[in-house]
Amino acid sequence: MCNCPKVTFYEVEFKLFGMKVVPTHKNCGDTLNDDQFNSFDKELRKYWGFEEK
Ligand SMILES: [Zn+2]
Repeated sequence: MCNCPKVTFYEVEFKLFGMKVVPTHKNCGDTLNDDQFNSFDKELRKYWGFEEK
């Protein structure tokens, strides 16, 4: 699991592990932990224009 202090939106890619698609950090090749995934999810919503108000 990725332990990088900062994972930016553009460093995340989705990889297929078995039957599951998981978000992965490009720089280290490890899967995101829950905190990283939550902030990625927020950035993604912003990017798509679904920002919560
Ligand atoms: Zn990482």
